[in-house]
Amino acid sequence: MTDTELRVSKIENGTVLDHLTAGQALHVLAMLGIDGSGGEAVSLGMNVPSERLGRKDVVKVEGRELSDSEVEVLSLIAPDATVNIVRDYEVEAKRRVERPSNVSGVLTCPNSECITNAGEPADPTFEVLDDGLRCEYCGDILRDDITAHLADTPQSP
Ligand SMILES: [Zn+2]
Repeated sequence: MTDTELRVSKIENGTVLDHLTAGQALHVLAMLGIDGSGGEAVSLGMNVPSERLGRKDVVKVEGRELSDSEVEVLSLIAPDATVNIVRDYEVEAKRRVERPSNVSGVLTCPNSECITNAGEPADPTFEVLDDGLRCEYCGDILRDDITAHLADTPQSP
């Protein structure tokens, strides 16, 4: 067991999000819709020393596995993240997130004039750029405030 693993408790079943961009743990929880009111056991490590990243955040959520769209948004907030699915205290699956070339249906456009905000049946779709996300309808760029523009996606059980 490494030093960093000792800092947060082990979980029985759930998800460990490792190598999160330092300082993003609370954004990641907001993205997952976790504010503590659901009763999940959540462990947080912030600004933990990391060989690969210098500093990183770690989030462990008991009893919760991420949906594909949640992993997609996670990749936008924390491009270096690894997602570990834990079952019976063992890591069942481990994967790096991949930055998609576009995302659809998980974010809303920051432009209030955009057709996707006008109640039309248009799913907001964004092209993923190196430094932001471009709305394919109006061309507006979404940069650092991704978590403020999360669409209300149904949460996975
Ligand atoms: Zn737009």
